[in-house]
Amino acid sequence: MEPTQENIQILKKARVSCRDCGLRYGELSNLKAVFGVGVCDVCGERAVVTEADTFGFFYRGICNLRRRKSRIERESKRVTTSD
Ligand SMILES: [Zn+2]
Repeated sequence: MEPTQENIQILKKARVSCRDCGLRYGELSNLKAVFGVGVCDVCGERAVVTEADTFGFFYRGICNLRRRKSRIERESKRVTTSD
C-alpha cells in the first residue's frame, strides 16, 4: 500500500476487513472474532471478513503509512530546497 493520505483514510475508515488485509495492516487482537462473507473495506474484494476492531483498527498499518509518508515528504522537501 502506498503511503498516501487516501490510503491512511481507507485504513481509518475501514469497518470490516478480510483476514489478509487485517494481518498485513493490523494485529489480531480479538480471538473471538466472528467472520462472515462480505466485501473487505481495505482491498475491496469479496472475502471472508470480520470487524476492524479484531485487528486493532489497523493501528500498526496507519502508523507505518504515516511514518513512510512523512519521510517521503521530508526527502522531497530536501530536493526542492537544494535548487
Ligand atoms: Zn482485504
